Amino acid sequence: MLDHITETRIFCPCSEKNLDWQDYPETLFDPSVCHRVSSLHFCPTCKSVKCFKCLEFETICKFCPRCYATVPNGLSYCNKSCFNCPRCHHYLNISAKTHMSSVNDKKGRSFTFTCTNCLWNLETGIISKPQALTSIVRKLDRNPVHTQFSQLKEFYVRQYEALKLQEQGSKIKHDLLARFSAIELASLTQRQNPVGFSESELSEEEELNEMRSRKSHIGSQNANDKLPLSQELSEKRSLRCKACRSVVLMPDSDPLSTRLEIPGAAADQLPSLLVTGYRNQPEPFRLKHPTARLILTLSNPLSESMDIKISTFEQLDSLGKPLKKDTKMEQDLTSTIGVHITCSEIQLGCKLESSSKPENYVKLIPTVKLTSRTKISRIELMRRDPDNLRNITWSNDEHWFDSTDSSGSVLDRGVNWSSVGINLSVGEGIALGTKINIPLFVGVTTKTSSYGMWTFLNAGEVVK
Ligand SMILES: [Zn+2]
Ligand SMILES: [Zn+2]
Ligand SMILES: [Zn+2]
Ligand SMILES: [Zn+2]
Repeated sequence: MLDHITETRIFCPCSEKNLDWQDYPETLFDPSVCHRVSSLHFCPTCKSVKCFKCLEFETICKFCPRCYATVPNGLSYCNKSCFNCPRCHHYLNISAKTHMSSVNDKKGRSFTFTCTNCLWNLETGIISKPQALTSIVRKLDRNPVHTQFSQLKEFYVRQYEALKLQEQGSKIKHDLLARFSAIELASLTQRQNPVGFSESELSEEEELNEMRSRKSHIGSQNANDKLPLSQELSEKRSLRCKACRSVVLMPDSDPLSTRLEIPGAAADQLPSLLVTGYRNQPEPFRLKHPTARLILTLSNPLSESMDIKISTFEQLDSLGKPLKKDTKMEQDLTSTIGVHITCSEIQLGCKLESSSKPENYVKLIPTVKLTSRTKISRIELMRRDPDNLRNITWSNDEHWFDSTDSSGSVLDRGVNWSSVGINLSVGEGIALGTKINIPLFVGVTTKTSSYGMWTFLNAGEVVK
């Protein structure tokens, strides 16, 4: 049944420069501004869909995806005991061993990192002072580039502190003298270059050779020289609308919680639009001359009812763009696609309250999507209106083609959904293989808001 459904795209108007357009926005047919509903959000203040370009994110919390500990800002690795294998990136098991001296005094502990996947392991040697595993691993680092970086970092931290202290006057100068040796102080205040980064007295060629030798040293490290890799962090982000600055999505700050304080996904706010074939329709998305039929089903995700108005262009050219009014008469209609939607005003009821119960959930599934694979869906299928079931079931009977043509009412309806027919007339001149996307404007009115959006219904491909 899933082969009988295509995906609808939604237009985000953020690239539109001309805001007082007549028939449709200028950028409507730019494929880069049409998105899947799953990648869109909805701003209740602007009453508009928002793509990733319309939103900015703020970090709510950083946490380790392994131990779920919240990590303070500024750190980019887990500061607990989460490490990965430097050879295969599998997580590492850590075991500790206590060492005693000859007089039964505690001498210290050693730690062993073991990869259960590739069997890589590392023993730290005896550590006498209690300290965090991350700092033990850092001290084992013999990589000259990392050591040089640490020296450089330490140098600048001390220089910054020294200069700050100098500015605070002579009283603190005594503290400063106590903290640094005379030589260090002289080197700091004269702003000399840090250790190992002398102003280049080397020729260009010598410098290049030195860089090459450093690089080759890094490359020559084998798995035995490697250290456990710290676990990178995940973060929870909130999303803010760039246009009105209101928060569109806010997750709970607890890493273990999946609750949203402000849910902003477009799929939770907008009516869903689903294009399907009729029940038992053979190859519904292979459109043949002269006519083709599909079903559009709209569902309401809200707990309040929705009034929907849909409109489209009567005639599309082979690129799926509407024919301009003045050219309509001149244009050869054999190379156009006619679009007729059987009902343009639709009321959708609201979702059932306890819709997570299977017997209620099955009522929210439109009949075009309802299979007979489970007992509960077979029972539900028998409860559905037989006339409506006939409306949405494919038939080769000529009479059926007339009766479902333009009745002006919905073909089928349920608790929070309704199905209408899309009748297409495919001109002879339309090239085989042309993919038809029908632009559709959807106006939505609820008790609390009213807005409109452009969507594209994927109707399939023209075939012989
Ligand atoms: Zn907004
Ligand atoms: Zn956008
Ligand atoms: Zn962790
Ligand atoms: Zn490994």
